[in-house]
Amino acid sequence: MSEEIHDVVIVGSGVAGHSAAIYAARADFEPVVYTGEDPGGQLTLTTDVENFLGFPDGVSGTELVQNGRKQAESFGARYEHRTIVDADLSERPFTLELNNGDTVTTRGLIIATGASARWVGAENEDAMMGYGLSTCATCDGAFHRGNDVLVVGGGDSAMEEALFLTKFAETVYIVHRREELRASEIMARRAEENEDIEFLWNTELVAIEGSRDEGVQGAKLVRHPEGHPTERMENGEGVEEIDFDCSGIFYAIGHTPNTEFLEDTPIALDEDGYIETESGMTTETGIEGVFAAGDVMDRDYQQAITAAGTGSMAALDLEEWLDAQEESATAETAPAAAD
Ligand SMILES: Cc1cc2nc3c(=O)[nH]c(=O)nc-3n(C[C@H](O)[C@H](O)[C@H](O)COP(=O)(O)OP(=O)(O)OC[C@H]3O[C@@H](n4cnc5c(N)ncnc54)[C@H](O)[C@@H]3O)c2cc1C
Repeated sequence: MSEEIHDVVIVGSGVAGHSAAIYAARADFEPVVYTGEDPGGQLTLTTDVENFLGFPDGVSGTELVQNGRKQAESFGARYEHRTIVDADLSERPFTLELNNGDTVTTRGLIIATGASARWVGAENEDAMMGYGLSTCATCDGAFHRGNDVLVVGGGDSAMEEALFLTKFAETVYIVHRREELRASEIMARRAEENEDIEFLWNTELVAIEGSRDEGVQGAKLVRHPEGHPTERMENGEGVEEIDFDCSGIFYAIGHTPNTEFLEDTPIALDEDGYIETESGMTTETGIEGVFAAGDVMDRDYQQAITAAGTGSMAALDLEEWLDAQEESATAETAPAAAD
């Protein structure tokens, strides 16, 4: 266990973590950032980011986060390639356990661990993510003007993504493994009534065609009239195989917030595992000294710019809290004024 007690530890090195690190470092708190397994976070999975303020010609996702880290380091932030596997937030200073067994202690903590989009498990998806395969229609829909795209999923977020994509795509095909949607009635109706959306019922995506140079060129789908075709394939049943032409594929089967290490702590998580922050515009978690930023506390927007925004808010909130702690400690130790 390290003897040093840090003022600020930031867990996560996506946009939210970098932004918090820049603010905390400029305020002289010498933050330590634990990068987790994916230094740079989800933006490293995409090629061009066209909607981040200040880049009229777009910017590569990887370049954006690499520059964010450089900027934070230039002010004194220190990055360590470790993952937090457990946390004791029941008393201050807080104790965090790293994946090499070491522990670190800190007065203030910012959690910016993001929410990972769930992947389907189709062949070639690792290679094609960010090259025509995406988990974010708001981010990448505009790359598919006039083309056909697939959306995989059957819940509200799939309907939302599909409806958004109709602004650009010729036709949006929703691939769903059953003949009935999980989406709410209103969202399902909106999608079903939209003439630019078609449903591929009882169908699943099994492989993505294309290359990083050419982008997505198509998809291999399987269908069974009674649904769940891949499960049936595994059980040796016959299925219909379909080669499908499309330029883009969007996964919309939900996100998993990276909060496993918080499960035994008093931090409030919602039913899906997102961190619940106090009401109002704040990053406070309800545990004094612990703040949350980015996608891990924001299930609605999940954009780089909003993650950067809440990252800066978390650092400012923590700075104010640390200053208040110091002031009250000074007041307690100061000699009483003479009458
Ligand atoms: C393919 C794709 C394209 C996208 N395109 C755009 C776009 O064009 N524009 C846009 O605005 N947004 C885009 N997004 C969304 C954007 O990437 C996210 O909103 C943003 O990355 C969220 O930042 P974050 O810092 O909250 O989380 P993340 O980027 O998810 O970063 C989380 C960080 O936490 C770390 N971590 C996780 N668990 C632990 C742990 N236990 N210990 C230590 N570290 C941990 C991870 O290693 C990672 O570094 C895209 C997303 C994807 C997947």
